Amino acid sequence: MYHHIKKLMFTVRVGQPEPRFGNMLLEQFGGANGELAAAMQYSIQGINCEDMPCKDLLMDIGTEELSHLEIVGTLARMHLKPMKTDADAAECDPLVAIAGGGGVTLCNSMGDAWTADYLKVTGELDVDLRSNIAAEARAKIVYERLINFCDDPGTKEALQFLMTREITHMRAFMQALDSLGKAPLSIGLIPPTPGIVDQYYNDSTGEGDGGEVDTTGPWNTGIEVVEAPALAEFQVLKATPTTAQTTLDRNGKKPARSDSKAHSAKRRR
Ligand code: MN
Ligand code: MN
Repeated sequence: MYHHIKKLMFTVRVGQPEPRFGNMLLEQFGGANGELAAAMQYSIQGINCEDMPCKDLLMDIGTEELSHLEIVGTLARMHLKPMKTDADAAECDPLVAIAGGGGVTLCNSMGDAWTADYLKVTGELDVDLRSNIAAEARAKIVYERLINFCDDPGTKEALQFLMTREITHMRAFMQALDSLGKAPLSIGLIPPTPGIVDQYYNDSTGEGDGGEVDTTGPWNTGIEVVEAPALAEFQVLKATPTTAQTTLDRNGKKPARSDSKAHSAKRRR
């Protein structure tokens, strides 16, 4: 059950209202990586969760995000308020000024309505936790940009608090994911196809005018590299584990079986 207490989690003080900055703040109110999206994503995942420790975590953080929503909304409202009376301020965000009377609605900074499409809820705990780790990283970077575009010390203070909490949440979700004891690439129950899973397709080749080059990194070393598969008319013929086949062997031999280490892919030198 929810209960509201007439206190903000962080005391918001705004010196000089900045209507244009108030508009930017709406991104964290009704935007894709905003507080309502976070609150709903974790709470709905929590409702679905059958792992009691993680359910508790999801409900704790989902509820904290609602308190963040209240802080951001209050902050945005303070910055948008001049739009009620000041024509110059109203021009910063006509939608908020004319349709919303200088208050907040569940829209992002461009006036797009909040949508449940922002939420990532898969019903698979480890997959959801990964989505949440990524969501916290996005929220963090949006707060950082807001801080960089803000001059008001009181507003910066509140944003610093909110930004800090996202890192705390990110760590908690990472620890929860760790606690499940799953191997990093173990998603769901059906194993990936041997052979095919260890192929790297070098699909972008050549040198670009902007200095773009073909590079090597951990992702394409110690693994089978298929050079320019489209140009080599490479195709996967079968992907089921025991019959996996590709056209890798182009020299008249039978197509290679992916799970019998029969590949003859050209490796870059
Ligand atoms: Mn938050
Ligand atoms: Mn968070």
